[in-house]
Amino acid sequence: MPYLIAIGLIAAILVFIVEYWYIALIVIVIVVAAAVLPGIIRDVRKNKYFASEEFQQKKSEIASCVAEHNEIAAYTSEIRNRGTFALGISSTGSQSHLAAFENTSTHNYRRDRNVAQYKASNVHNSSLQVVRNAKADPIKYLMKYFNIKAEEPRLAEVEALGSEIAQLENAVINLKQREKSITKSFVPPAFILEYYAEEFMQHAGVKLSPISVPYPIYKFEYVSAGGNSSQQTTIKLDTRTIDALSERLSEKIKFKRSAAGQRALMTARLRNFIKGRDNHTCQNCSISLTKEPHLLLEVDHIVPVSKGGLSTIENLQTLCWKCNRTKSNKMVVR
Ligand SMILES: [Zn+2]
Repeated sequence: MPYLIAIGLIAAILVFIVEYWYIALIVIVIVVAAAVLPGIIRDVRKNKYFASEEFQQKKSEIASCVAEHNEIAAYTSEIRNRGTFALGISSTGSQSHLAAFENTSTHNYRRDRNVAQYKASNVHNSSLQVVRNAKADPIKYLMKYFNIKAEEPRLAEVEALGSEIAQLENAVINLKQREKSITKSFVPPAFILEYYAEEFMQHAGVKLSPISVPYPIYKFEYVSAGGNSSQQTTIKLDTRTIDALSERLSEKIKFKRSAAGQRALMTARLRNFIKGRDNHTCQNCSISLTKEPHLLLEVDHIVPVSKGGLSTIENLQTLCWKCNRTKSNKMVVR
């Protein structure tokens, strides 16, 4: 019965279109125009805006801001390429490539939906209990199952990773702030930002950086024997987690009464302290945050870690990104 009604309805519409084709034609033209015209008009307005004297003048006014933004974008990819952004590995499955696995059950059950990732060095396959406990005390379990021992060289590695991440994080945030302020200084019409944000940046000469911070991720994973269930605890090594890890390692090293364990820890708190102590001013060229609100400042080891320099407040200083880049490039050449 419903089929008959549908066929009847379609037939009625066909008869209507044949009979009153000119009305149907007008309706189609209106519908198409309503769908296409706004886009065409917007496109014309956009081209007009980018070609306008107002836009071009603003562009030349802030050319130096844009140039500095683009230099920092290039610097950001240097930081990204230089860093390793990795730490400790799990030993589960380190030799799994030596064996083959096959599901030989005769019944075609939909098992193996959850297959353990034995090959990934950042995944530890464990019992459900360990997965749960890792959620409760991530730092302890990270150290235990990813072989991060409370030893001075390990702590130095964790701090180095923390510095890499903080430096890149800092640069990425700085770029975003600069992009915001560049956009703001143009005061573009709302539709430009809504529909042509990326094109706007291109026309302004801003090179957008696709770089994001590659935080190392560590996982504890339980997969049931049949593969029917799987549970995970994930630990992202962001600045907060790395600082907590450094502190935990340092406590354990201090407990061993090692002299090296007595020094300051390179954490976000210490970096902020150094910048504050130096009045947010580059200790080499004297440029400061008060003079340049978007200044990218970094904390530098005066005697580099690679030459035995320690993370003590006497050996740390604030440098602007340009001075720091010049300094670290010289170090690489030597
Ligand atoms: Zn400087």
